[in-house]
Amino acid sequence: MEQMLDNITNSMKYKSYALHNYKAIPQVQALPEELLEAIEVVGHVLPFKTNNYVVDELINWNQVPNDPIFTLTFPRKEMLQPHHYKRMKAALDAGLSKDEIKAVANEIRMELNPHPAGQDKNVPMLGDVKLSGVQHKYRETVLFFPSQGQTCHAYCSFCFRWPQFVGMDEMKFAMKETDQLVQYLKEHREVTDVLFTGGDPMVMKSKLLRAYIEPLLSDELWNVQTIRIGSKSLAYWPYKYITDDDAEDTLALFTEITRKGKNLAFMAHFNHPAELDTPAVKEAIIRIRYTRAQIRTQSPILRAINDKPEIWTEMWRKQVNLNLIPYYMFAVRDTGAQHFFGLPLVEAQEIWRQAWQHASGVCRTVRGPSMSCTPGKVQMLGTASINGQKVMVLRFLQGRNPDWVGRPFFAEYNEKAIWIDELKPAFGESKFFLKMNYRKY
Ligand SMILES: *Cc1c(COP(=O)(O)O)cnc(C)c1O
Ligand code: SF4
Repeated sequence: MEQMLDNITNSMKYKSYALHNYKAIPQVQALPEELLEAIEVVGHVLPFKTNNYVVDELINWNQVPNDPIFTLTFPRKEMLQPHHYKRMKAALDAGLSKDEIKAVANEIRMELNPHPAGQDKNVPMLGDVKLSGVQHKYRETVLFFPSQGQTCHAYCSFCFRWPQFVGMDEMKFAMKETDQLVQYLKEHREVTDVLFTGGDPMVMKSKLLRAYIEPLLSDELWNVQTIRIGSKSLAYWPYKYITDDDAEDTLALFTEITRKGKNLAFMAHFNHPAELDTPAVKEAIIRIRYTRAQIRTQSPILRAINDKPEIWTEMWRKQVNLNLIPYYMFAVRDTGAQHFFGLPLVEAQEIWRQAWQHASGVCRTVRGPSMSCTPGKVQMLGTASINGQKVMVLRFLQGRNPDWVGRPFFAEYNEKAIWIDELKPAFGESKFFLKMNYRKY
């Protein structure tokens, strides 16, 4: 541990870049005019935020604009449909006021389907009170959105959570108090997992994170066995665990959780093997693992970022070598810049299959490609021919009704479909096997 630390600058100070200051990035100043225009135009519609670690240590500037990490955090022209791009460019060229430009941006955003997959349906009740920072969709797992964790160290250009970041506050799921969550967990002993999500809960200072997590360690909440934290911080700001002021205290909090006998599952979001190569990320992983937390990994499959089997095989292998446990490959949701990032399910599954075939058994803890949709998480298992008819085979990995999980079902073969709502049940059935009677918890 000491050894590696020597290679890391002692004074890594987080610096974020967004629309108002990205021109100060030296590497950006060297970019051709059309790329700068695209950042300006697209950045007014989709969330844009990057930071000094991403810029200096992750992006390979010789490969820009095709560098996967550049594409991951910088706006590119192709991320907006041509008519949307034109509309925003015209608004900027016309020198409209800030408010007028914002109105144009919001109009375009509304056309991008900003709240996908029926998230509002899962908001639970505590008596008469709506727990707006909580989602309870699957029996054993409750999702918690701490109101202070609704941002990230950098923004992913594909992210479906973007309505939370761009100032459309009314759509923000947020909750100030853990009290209500604790009460809810006492009344719902079937819940074993609490998943902190956001944004990125690891943007919170350790003191704040502590205020959210410590109440969950109380003996009264014996049902809570796993605390999961969904975070992209290892990829976007590993110094959080090394040189930030609260690095030691954050790790101490992790240790408290595991000392208490709870499973701490750090759900790390990595999209590309390049994110696993820096001395900083390796050091941060060692430090987190030292607290006895598990680190599991997940990523969507994205055009222009990781749409090749070799990338996945390499990513899983590197993860396993660093003691991380590959967990999910997601299909991208129906929002934002999906026309740029989206891959048809058949193609995604083919990439999956080839990657899987070349991965060692120790990497095959990962499941996918999986769609998080209204009824649950649906895995595209593959294509098959049944009585001469070509079909797609799917199954639920998670379902609102636990009874759906693990039963294969069939859809008509559709090479173009990106999302489950474009699929039709095979064999002339009127619906997939499931009855849509959601269980309420
Ligand atoms: C993915 C997800 C979970 C966690 O599911 P696991 O399969 O247990 O990892 C929980 N809640 C929601 C809403 C999810 O999308
Ligand atoms: S880090 Fe996670 S929540 Fe934040 S922008 Fe990326 S995908 Fe979205």
